[in-house]
Amino acid sequence: TPSIVWLRRDLRLADQAAFAAAAAAGPVIPVYVLDDETPRHRRMGAASRWWLHHSLASLDADLRARGSRLILRRGRCEEVLAHLARETGATAVHCLRHYEPWWRNAERAVGEVLDLRRHDGNYLAPPGSVTTGSGSPYKIYTPFWRALEARMPPAPPLPAPDRLPAPEAWPASDTLAEWNLLPTTPDWAGGMRAEWTPGEAGAAARLEAFLPRARVYADRRNLPSVPGTSRLSPHLHFGEISPATIWHATAERGGTVGTFLGELGWRDYAQNVILQMPDYAGKPAREAFDDFPWRDDPAGLKAWQQGLTGYPIVDAGMRELWTTGWMHNRVRMIAASFLIKHLLIDWREGERWFWDTLVDADYGSNAVNWQWSAGTGVDSNMFVRIMAPLTQSPKFDAGAYIRQWVPELAHLDDTRIHDPDVRPRGYPARFVGHAEARARALAAYAEWNDRR
Ligand code: FAD
Repeated sequence: TPSIVWLRRDLRLADQAAFAAAAAAGPVIPVYVLDDETPRHRRMGAASRWWLHHSLASLDADLRARGSRLILRRGRCEEVLAHLARETGATAVHCLRHYEPWWRNAERAVGEVLDLRRHDGNYLAPPGSVTTGSGSPYKIYTPFWRALEARMPPAPPLPAPDRLPAPEAWPASDTLAEWNLLPTTPDWAGGMRAEWTPGEAGAAARLEAFLPRARVYADRRNLPSVPGTSRLSPHLHFGEISPATIWHATAERGGTVGTFLGELGWRDYAQNVILQMPDYAGKPAREAFDDFPWRDDPAGLKAWQQGLTGYPIVDAGMRELWTTGWMHNRVRMIAASFLIKHLLIDWREGERWFWDTLVDADYGSNAVNWQWSAGTGVDSNMFVRIMAPLTQSPKFDAGAYIRQWVPELAHLDDTRIHDPDVRPRGYPARFVGHAEARARALAAYAEWNDRR
C-alpha cells in the first residue's frame, strides 16, 4: 500500500526523512495542502506566496525526474489528507515536524484520524530537545547555543532518492495556476525573479556560492555593501536545504565558521522560543509592555514601509525589502529600531509588514527578532538602547548599499552620503529629527516605567 508524504516547509528531496521513510515502505504520494483554515493559521504573506509557487513548481519537476509527481490539494489538512488516504488506499502519512502553533494543531488533528509518522530534520537539533541539566528548555540564546553546539555535528545528511516508487494510479491534483499565488497587476515580483531561484537546485547553488566566502563571514556579515552573508534564509525557511547539509558543507569546506554556525543556531533558538511561547508574534514576553504608550502614527508607518523616512540607511533597507523580498540583517536591526524607537510605533506593526514582504518570513525568527529589537522579548536588547541610524551607516560602510537602493542619493560619494546635512532635492526631509526622537522615546519609556 502507498504512503503519503505531507509536505509543508520541507520542499526538498535530499536529507528529507519523510521521503526516505515512505520510500522504504512502498509507493509514495507526495502532497502539498494549501491550508488557510486550520485554527490560528497565519496566512502566508504575499512575498512568501510568490516563493511558494516557484518552489512547488521546482519540487514537482524534481519529482517527475524521479518517476513521481506532486499532488496539490486545498483545505483543512486533516480533512484533505483523510480524503486522499481513502481515495488511494494509503495507510501511513509521513511528515517532518513543524513548530508554528497552527502546524502543531494540524499535526494533532491529522494524528487523530490517520497513522501520522513525524520525523525530524528541519533544525540542527529537534526543537524542545535542547534542555538544561534539570530538563527545562532554555530561554536565553547564549546558554542554548552552548548546549546545542555540544551536540553537534548533526547526523550526516541523507542522500536524495534516485527514484521514488509510484502508486498504480495518481490521484487528481489542482494546478498551481488555479491557486493564484503570484501577483497579477501590478506585477511587483520583478526584483524577486532577478534575485532568487526558489527550489532545491537554487538552494544548493547559493550554498556553493557561499562556501568560498564562509571563512570571511565573521568579518563581512555586518557590511551591507558587500556579499558577506549566505542569503540562504528563504531556502531554509521553505526547507529547500537542510541545516545539517549546510553544517557539514561549511564545517568541511568553509574553514573557521563558528560565527556562521552560531547564526544557524539562532534559527533553532527561535523555534525553541515559539515552542514555549506560541503567541510570541502577538504578545510581548515582558508582559509589562502590554500597556506601553505606542504612538498611533499612520503617516510615519507609511513613510517607513515605503522607504521615505529621510534616513538613508533605513530607506535603503526598506526599498531593498520591497524590491527583492530580503533585507540585510544589520539593516533589519536598524530599520526595526527606527520604527520602534524613533517613531514609537508598536513593534507588531513592523512584524506584520515583514511577514507580508519578506521571502524568508518565518513566524519564529521574525517574532524573536522583533521582540529582541523592541526590548520586549525573553532575550532582549534594552529598550533604552537606541540605535542612531546616521552613525550606523558610516560605521558599517553602507555608502555603496545606499547608492544602490536610494537613487536620489546615487550621485553622492562616501564622504557626502553619510553627511546628514547633504540632502538633495527629491529626497524626503527627515520624518523626525534624531535628537528629538531619542528624547521622545526616553520620555515615553520613563513615564511608562514610573507608572508600573
Ligand atoms: P546568514 O547570515 O548567512 O545566516 C545563515 C542563516 O542563519 C540564515 O539564513 C538564517 O536562517 C539564520 N539566521 C541568521 N541570523 C538569524 C537571526 N538573527 N535569527 C534567526 N535566524 C537567523 N530571519 C528569517 O529567516 N526570517 C525572518 O522572518 C526574519 N525576520 C527578522 C526580523 C528582524 C527585525 C531582524 C532584525 C532579523 C530577522 N531575521 C529573520 C534574521 C536575519 O536577519 C535573517 O535570517 C538573515 O538576514 C538572512 O540572511 P542570510 O541567509 O544571508 O543570513
